[in-house]
Amino acid sequence: MTDRTSVDASAPGTPAPARSRLVVLAGPTAVGKGTVAAVIREDHPDVWISVSATTRAPRPGEQDGVHYWFVSDEEFDRMAAEGELLEWAVVHGRHRYGTPRRPVEERLAQGRPALLEIDLQGARQVRDTMPDALFVFLKPPSWEELVRRLTGRGTESEEERERRLATARTELAAEAEFDVTIVNHEVHAAADELVNLLRLDLEP
Ligand code: 5GP
Repeated sequence: MTDRTSVDASAPGTPAPARSRLVVLAGPTAVGKGTVAAVIREDHPDVWISVSATTRAPRPGEQDGVHYWFVSDEEFDRMAAEGELLEWAVVHGRHRYGTPRRPVEERLAQGRPALLEIDLQGARQVRDTMPDALFVFLKPPSWEELVRRLTGRGTESEEERERRLATARTELAAEAEFDVTIVNHEVHAAADELVNLLRLDLEP
């Protein structure tokens, strides 16, 4: 005897309900969320990953509309004010990042999975508005490894690295808020684990 009261979707003639899976990937700074997303873009081009809007400048090699939508402060203000963002946050106390709402909603309405790679503050906002999403925490193998990765990236100033490390300490403590943890021992393995979660059949 179970307490499940939903219709038996496996009954003959009953189409499976058109539910789709929203997966939210978050985790501490420099754990490799962006690299996992890049590997998924490369190895699993069929997986749809939301392209965030950001007020920060592009890094070398980053393309508008592929890695981010690079927008002005004024444009970000407009998007936020007009409700075009599913969530948004100031990350590392500097720039704003947000998830354009419409592409995600369209994707889910088509019954197809969607992946968001966002920071913890954004993940909390999505939990409030879309509690059925699957929240995945990407964790470093150890704190030492996280510091090594943070220092090794070399694209930020010393001050910026310190700021990101401070954020990371707080963010590591948030693991308990998540449904699933993936330990990022190796980026391809972590990417495969995440893709498997996106493709899991949803329970009716
Ligand atoms: P970066 O500037 O290194 O590309 O990204 C910095 C941080 O911003 C990462 O932790 C990344 O997860 C987060 N981020 C990227 N896009 C979004 C977004 O749309 N919303 C939120 N809340 N965070 C984001």
